[in-house]
Amino acid sequence: MDRGAGGGVRGGGVRRNRSATLALAASVLALSAGLAQAQTAAPVEYDLRFDDAVHHEARITVTWRDVGTEPLRVRMSRSSPGRYAIHEFAKNVYSVSAVDGAGRALTIGRTDPYGWTIPGHDGTVSVTYTLFGDRADGTYAQIDATHAHLNIPASLMWAEGQEARPATVRFRPVAPDWRVATQLRPTEDPYVFTAPNLQYLMDSPTEVSAHAVREWTVDDAGTPRTIRLAVHHAGTDAELDRFAASARKVVDQQIAVFGDVPDFDFGTYTFIADYLPYVSGDGMEHRNSTILTDTRSFAQADFDQLGTLSHEFIHAWNVERIRPAELEPFDFTDANPTPSLWFAEGFTSYYGPLTIRRAGEQSVDGFLADLGGTLGFIVNNPGRAYGSPQEMSLRAPFVDAATAIDPTNPTIFTSYYPYGQIIALALDLTLRQRFPGVTLDDYMRRMWRVHGVTEQPFTPDDLVEALAVTTGDRAFAEDFFARHVEASELPDFGPLLGQAGLVLRPARPEAAWIGGPPIRATGTALMVTNVPARGSPVFEAGLSRGDEIVSVDGVEMNADADWAAVVAARKPGDTVEIAYRQRGADKTTRLTFAADPAIEVVRVETAGGSVTEAQSAFREAWLGPAS
Ligand SMILES: [Zn+2]
Repeated sequence: MDRGAGGGVRGGGVRRNRSATLALAASVLALSAGLAQAQTAAPVEYDLRFDDAVHHEARITVTWRDVGTEPLRVRMSRSSPGRYAIHEFAKNVYSVSAVDGAGRALTIGRTDPYGWTIPGHDGTVSVTYTLFGDRADGTYAQIDATHAHLNIPASLMWAEGQEARPATVRFRPVAPDWRVATQLRPTEDPYVFTAPNLQYLMDSPTEVSAHAVREWTVDDAGTPRTIRLAVHHAGTDAELDRFAASARKVVDQQIAVFGDVPDFDFGTYTFIADYLPYVSGDGMEHRNSTILTDTRSFAQADFDQLGTLSHEFIHAWNVERIRPAELEPFDFTDANPTPSLWFAEGFTSYYGPLTIRRAGEQSVDGFLADLGGTLGFIVNNPGRAYGSPQEMSLRAPFVDAATAIDPTNPTIFTSYYPYGQIIALALDLTLRQRFPGVTLDDYMRRMWRVHGVTEQPFTPDDLVEALAVTTGDRAFAEDFFARHVEASELPDFGPLLGQAGLVLRPARPEAAWIGGPPIRATGTALMVTNVPARGSPVFEAGLSRGDEIVSVDGVEMNADADWAAVVAARKPGDTVEIAYRQRGADKTTRLTFAADPAIEVVRVETAGGSVTEAQSAFREAWLGPAS
């Protein structure tokens, strides 16, 4: 859910340009020749046609002017803001041709798969290519009879050495009711937009379609900021009105957390949503917008799309402006790793559902059911034995929608989304316990003031520093990070949750448990489908990925129901004899079931106890009124 981007105009423009600001402060005369040139250079002109939309093709022309006499090297990106793995976007580009300023055909050199080298031009180069795209999500492009859904790194070429130039982008809609949803700067022509430089252009996904729009303003200390919701869907206006009302309440709760509204570039933040059966579910944050995709309609999902919307809008503060230094500026030619995704994504994952709860859009019990599930997933997660939240963050290029054909060991990775979410929970409840009047909201506000408003990217050490200042207790801050961020320790959540009158308890203590991975029917055989976690009952029995279960205690195993019956009839501590086939050899083993370690979090009232006044006040201050 990625994250993102970056946007900004690092490089010149909308994002408060740190280097430019400093240069100007030092001396107006010190303006570098490069910067001056960037500000006066002819914009790169993009022209997008969708005449072959039914065949998922766009025809795109890009023109660079005043580029001198050297060969121009144009290319596609290999990564995208908010995605941390490599994605080879050049694979969907073909039928490439080029002409110079006089319309003379130019020869194109190819020496690698990512780009095209064009010598012999007259200072103007106009490249035309076909883009194929049929995946609508936060990373790729989908062009069809209903829309052009364009993630820009997946769609637009750029030229090396010309990154500081502004861009103009013209979209040529295939139907008169198609309009444009984007964070690009609007012009008087509703189909023409501009970007101050390549970093901002790449960060500005665009949806061209017959979508519906709802918008409202929020108050930023006297300045109105526009929040726009552009939704391409097949539902009703009434459903969209209801969703917009919910979104508005959640946005208000998030503004309350940070105590400020980001100064959105050009005054507007845009949710760009596609809720259609032929898209792929995703969420991807950008500087002044986000992509939200879901295959379900509002009715099918019961408005569950609010969860992703909430997560992505938190990113307007946390990631887009409170930004890891390693992502600044974004490198479109390589993966962009940072050790701080546990904070960037994990703390965002904590506030997404929490602000929905505070907005009254989810019940306390519903919130606790989800929280307990996530907590149990992390407490029992075998991956934590292999690395801290920082280490897991650095593995993002291997897991963030990254595909490879050789299998990996799934038990050594713990996603930084739920892992960071649980670290946020631990920190919030610990702050409330040890520092009266201090909450995680105060920590986020500190990060916002020091690194967000100023757009000074943060390092891992800055996160410790902000906690030391927020608590006035440096030793606590350093100890918390040493245990829970740089190492894999978790606090005892029972007493922490007890402050809110919540009970942490086993969810299914009587259930027999094998410790995963799933044993599942594939064809006519019952297979162990993946590598088991070290120390789990399946692991100790010597079973692993690819083994075929033949029988259990003499009963033949063929279907999922056969295995389910075995487990249902056993208790923790029971042992069964398993006949199995491993790499062609017939073997037997004994498997001893463990107790299911799943946990749940419930209100003490639900567990038959009573809540004290202090617990009740703590709960409301944390989760909002029960409503
Ligand atoms: Zn995210």
